[in-house]
Amino acid sequence: MNYGKCPVCLGKISEEIIEYHDYEWQHTLLFDALEIRYCYECGFGFSTPDLALKDIERFYSSQYRQVPAYFIDYKNFSKPFHPDYRSVAQLMLALQFCTWEINDVFLDVGPGTGASFNTAHKILKEPNLGAIEYAEGAVEAYQKQYHVSSIDSLDKYRETFKRQPKIVLSSHSLEHFTYTSAVNFLNDLSKIIDPSGVFIAEVPHVDFRIHKNMRNEDSPHFLFFSKSALSKLFSENGFEVLYLNTCGRIHEKNYGQVYSDVEQTVLKLTRFSKIMQFIKYGVKRMVNILGISGKVILRNDNFYYGGDRDCLRIVARRLEVRDNTD
Ligand SMILES: [Zn+2]
Repeated sequence: MNYGKCPVCLGKISEEIIEYHDYEWQHTLLFDALEIRYCYECGFGFSTPDLALKDIERFYSSQYRQVPAYFIDYKNFSKPFHPDYRSVAQLMLALQFCTWEINDVFLDVGPGTGASFNTAHKILKEPNLGAIEYAEGAVEAYQKQYHVSSIDSLDKYRETFKRQPKIVLSSHSLEHFTYTSAVNFLNDLSKIIDPSGVFIAEVPHVDFRIHKNMRNEDSPHFLFFSKSALSKLFSENGFEVLYLNTCGRIHEKNYGQVYSDVEQTVLKLTRFSKIMQFIKYGVKRMVNILGISGKVILRNDNFYYGGDRDCLRIVARRLEVRDNTD
């Protein structure tokens, strides 16, 4: 990547080099050489140098899912206890911009816990569910629990599904792509998605022009989006932006920075990072489990939009391809 010009808007890239925050993955060497640059004009941020795709894939398959906080027990996979507010909000927003019909396809790019499929079964009428997923165990678990057909890349879409996807979701996934992979993905998707369908994506809102000191851990993210960078990336790569806004927690209330500073110090002091991660995961699980005995609370940050919030949600439709032969 040429650092002279922003790959998204061709604006000027910062002279300033931002330190890449890597607390949780210090035991891997993958992120050690990374630093961050950003565009003064659109706010797009990216880590450099580019890592080899095979090293990134090896990280996800051999390390990422082994850490308790990100571990998903696909062998004992069960439906979530409570509604997944984020995917409820995402699907409700997507439905504002398309007409869902029985047997339409909902495709999730990197479904993680599969919570969006649980939501899709509740919100969408008789959906055909699809996943882009290659993780061992996940494919079988989604199939068994939610009747999902998985493919490992978009190239295989037409072999597996009869209809073009009506709603495609990519929730907290694009920021894990390299810039080239993200561009290729958007262009490929724009050729596959139903012309009347929508692509809904959500990413962390990290604009280095304003959030430099408000952000949490960077790893394993390679791309950082401002509102205008996300819009420009989509509109330059096969999509028309229908909706784009901030969502989630207000940045000022985000305790991420304090939390990560404390955590980082503790990690350094104790050197028992795995134990700390296990405790953190245990506390999260306890809170979730206790949550089922309480009432369902619909007042949730995932339903709030506007202002300086910590995520961006975008809805886009494929650009009409104009036939020049007319
Ligand atoms: Zn730019």
